[in-house]
Amino acid sequence: MTIDYSIVIPVYNEEKNIEDLHSKILKAMSSINSTFEVIYVDDGSYDKGMDVLLSISKNNPDVKVVQFAKNFGQTAAISAGAKHSRGDIIILIDCDLQNDPDDIPRLIEKIKEGYDLVSGWRKKRKDPWFTRRLPSVIANFLISFVTRVKLHDFGCTLKAYRRGIFEGISLYGEMHRLMPVYASWRGARITELIVKHNPRTAGRSKYGIGRTFKVLLDLFAIMFFGSYSTKPIYFFGGFGIFMTVCSVISGIVVLVEKYYLPDAPAHRNPLLLLAVFLFLIGFQMVMMGLLAEILMRTYFEVQDKPTYVIKSKVNF
Ligand code: UDP
Ligand code: MG
Repeated sequence: MTIDYSIVIPVYNEEKNIEDLHSKILKAMSSINSTFEVIYVDDGSYDKGMDVLLSISKNNPDVKVVQFAKNFGQTAAISAGAKHSRGDIIILIDCDLQNDPDDIPRLIEKIKEGYDLVSGWRKKRKDPWFTRRLPSVIANFLISFVTRVKLHDFGCTLKAYRRGIFEGISLYGEMHRLMPVYASWRGARITELIVKHNPRTAGRSKYGIGRTFKVLLDLFAIMFFGSYSTKPIYFFGGFGIFMTVCSVISGIVVLVEKYYLPDAPAHRNPLLLLAVFLFLIGFQMVMMGLLAEILMRTYFEVQDKPTYVIKSKVNF
């Protein structure tokens, strides 16, 4: 049995925010006449958050809780929440009230226009400039430039996705931020919507500047996987064949000089060394391509493996 909307919320030490957020979500959703569920994923919190979650999910089958055995990170929490959801549309939102639940009906309106992914854009972002907004502007520019997916705010959690987008995608590291890239590669229609943003009033931010570098490394990894993953031997093998051809040319030059030039013994010709070097490197490159093929196939075949461990589940 499916329902219309699943609201998925990663929670890590947000005891002071959960109740407030929950009542705002209920209020926002009461304005639309549809079925929905709210899935909280407790990402190994060590505050009283889990008690709050148990009390709001008690006697309410549409509020579900997945509790992780330890902190596996926001991306793992999102991926577990999506996997346990039933909604045709999955809406992600942060637990800290920096995103405004009143924007959820607006995202839904946009999805109904036929889009597969509606991305929130925190145009007036209420975070520190130097450690957050500046790195984010640079990262968003780079991601757009490299992937050609034009969005202003990849990092905004508040986004609505058609269910299909999550199917067949495994998320690692900080990769939930790059979902629009995967989605667009698979032909999704994507649009952007300006959303409200508030400063954090309770609890602390869980991230520092280090996250920007992780996101950039993830970008590098998915670009490689996106363009060469299915055929790494073309990437390495291309170099390999080029080197081998250079080696053969160099070897022919050595032989020609030896037999047709007076006084040009092959063993004193530096081109002989070059020919041997290039041949070895070329051969190794092709072999590396084969190894990469094996790795890549393993990678794709084990994709079902989850990146988290679940301790308990409520209302499933
Ligand atoms: N979060 C999580 N696991 C983590 C870190 C964060 O589930 O390891 C959740 C956190 O509770 C919040 C959301 O992810 O709901 C965004 O975190 P935060 O507000 O700290 O990030 P920021 O808004 O500062 O980028
Ligand atoms: Mg926040």
